[in-house]
Amino acid sequence: MPAPKRKTAPQEKAKTGAAKLARLGLRTDMDLALHLPLRYEDETQVQPIQAAGFMGGHAAQVEGVVTASDIQYRPRRQLVVTIADDSGPLVMRFLNFYGNQVKQLAVGVRVRARGEVRHGFFGAEMVHPTYKVVQEGDPLPDRLTPVYPSGEGLPQAYLRKAIAGALSRVDWRDTLSPALLAELRLQAFEPSVRLLHNPPPDVSEHALLDRSHPAWLRMKFDELLAQQLSLKRAQAARRSKGAAALPRIGELSESLMKALPFTLTGAQQRVLAEIRADLHESFPMQRLLQGDVGSGKTVVAALAAAQAIDSGFQAALMAPTEILAEQHFRKIAQWMEPLGVKVAWLTGSLKKKEKLEALARTESGEAQLVIGTHALIQEGVEFSKLGLVIVDEQHRFGVGQRLALRNKGLDAQTVPHQLMMSATPIPRTLAMTYYADLEVSVIDELPPGRTPIVTRIVDQNRRDEVIGRVHAAAQEGRQAYWVCPLIEESEALQLQTATDTHATLAAELSDLNVGLVHGRMKPAEKQIVMDAFSRGEVHVLVATTVIEVGVDVPNASLMVIEHAERFGLSQLHQLRGRVGRGSAASVCLLLYQSPLGPVAKQRLMTMRETTDGFEIARRDLEIRGPGEFLGARQSGQAMLRFADLETDQWLVEKARDVAQKLLHDDPATVEAHLARWLGGREEFLKV
Ligand code: ADP
Ligand code: MG
Repeated sequence: MPAPKRKTAPQEKAKTGAAKLARLGLRTDMDLALHLPLRYEDETQVQPIQAAGFMGGHAAQVEGVVTASDIQYRPRRQLVVTIADDSGPLVMRFLNFYGNQVKQLAVGVRVRARGEVRHGFFGAEMVHPTYKVVQEGDPLPDRLTPVYPSGEGLPQAYLRKAIAGALSRVDWRDTLSPALLAELRLQAFEPSVRLLHNPPPDVSEHALLDRSHPAWLRMKFDELLAQQLSLKRAQAARRSKGAAALPRIGELSESLMKALPFTLTGAQQRVLAEIRADLHESFPMQRLLQGDVGSGKTVVAALAAAQAIDSGFQAALMAPTEILAEQHFRKIAQWMEPLGVKVAWLTGSLKKKEKLEALARTESGEAQLVIGTHALIQEGVEFSKLGLVIVDEQHRFGVGQRLALRNKGLDAQTVPHQLMMSATPIPRTLAMTYYADLEVSVIDELPPGRTPIVTRIVDQNRRDEVIGRVHAAAQEGRQAYWVCPLIEESEALQLQTATDTHATLAAELSDLNVGLVHGRMKPAEKQIVMDAFSRGEVHVLVATTVIEVGVDVPNASLMVIEHAERFGLSQLHQLRGRVGRGSAASVCLLLYQSPLGPVAKQRLMTMRETTDGFEIARRDLEIRGPGEFLGARQSGQAMLRFADLETDQWLVEKARDVAQKLLHDDPATVEAHLARWLGGREEFLKV
């Protein structure tokens, strides 16, 4: 006996409906009012069936009376309903259907059906049309029917009803004054929202779809304004905090500059001047130092730290991986320790005794510079006088982690200056929005004497030739990286691949020393291999993406990346940046498995065509769109539902100006506007 059908109680239905709406972020009436259609269906007219048949694949709406209704079994079970109007018949075909549909679509019933008309064997037909049963003379809607972004199990009809209800209840007060609207040439709020939900049929559908209609402009402007207001408020909150001014460029700064084995490039000098000026201020610096891979950010960071130390404060440098942190530690210690600076090293992998010692030196202030990983932000780490925090590869840390380091300042009201570094260049439009609260310095010049990297794309079936090249390079005294394929689904599999690759390469290159590093090795083991590679004793370093950032071995001039098609553009760029650091001509070989998909192909071509990180970032933005560019949580675009940072840049600029003015003259409007547009989502924007 089949189980009895369960009927859903009405309250239960309402509850699940609300929960589903909430999952789309639709909690308040205003949320619903601002849930705007993706597109529209034109149900304002019915066409004669005969004419609809000529539309060739376009959606049409017809109305007719059912003349036949059958369940057919060939080629598979389906419900076939024929309707007809004065001009002729049309077949509606349903491959999935319910018993009550069969009952509903009985002969003699009048239906209004909407769908694509095709020419089947029996004349005009619609497969799975949307339809409803009507009475003769039932009026047609006089507005386009909105189609909303929806979630699983949330039917359009339910959304439409919920939104219509909300539109009758919301507080329509315009947050912008008529004078301001006139100045900006923007439409009022209420008519804009109403028009977008229920546009009259004479509105240009094109302008609705490409969001160029004045009603859309108003929505986009409001959204961008909310974003700018919120960013500027975060900025003001930051500026209301104090920071210790670090004004002294003293003995240490000067002797460090002299001790460097090179002179700074013009770009390094410029960004250093910007940082030095910020450190003079008694509110906290929040500066992003952008520079392509190998552009020399570390030395700038070291000079900033020197200024903090010269001024009597401590500096901390945090890097996302142990390898990277250790590279910084070694390099900076090698520069600074001879000048009498006490540098401490703090990571999770330290032995208990070493760790306690590092913590004690940090707390007492004996350690003037503390370098490490996330271990720096853990509880129990106390600084005596932390004046400057430097975060390398800042995008690899969460907002919370960056804040935690900032909170290790003198007291709640005095926070350290913050310098963030990134080799992932951020396009200008993104910098203006998400990064509105950051000052940005750019190193746009590589140190002299670098030889350009030649990049080749090589089919995986020529792997033997590639191994031959590695061998030849080693015989000329050069070293090579061999990067193993990225296997996102499984770390275990990735590890396995790395060990296998290492074993086969070691066998095939039996006269060479082949090393292996991967993420699961103990830091000490990793370091032994890295050191041997740095000293030139290991010729070929097989690696997973652990070498992605920061590794600096100038004698390595060959980079092989297996299954390059699986990597993202910025990752490939970072990996490739490990070579081309010395005077030898460098080569990067991107091995791929054919056939290549179009996106992967575009990426590899980009890599072949350019080594310019900014150009690569620009193309990455083009291929992926800004939402994905920085990871959804981080990007300014992620906050934006309607505006597009590329096409609406002029609106971004207007919104910026207006935000500035409103914050200055009209706090009540600021509050009202933020409440309307961000509701509870403002925390996303706090950097
Ligand atoms: P990144 O910006 O990728 O962090 P690094 O700071 O690691 O780059 O610098 C890359 C290499 O270039 C290092 O070996 C560093 O010592 C060297 N370097 C930095 N600045 C200069 C310069 N002005 N002239 C020559 N070499 C430099
Ligand atoms: Mg670096």
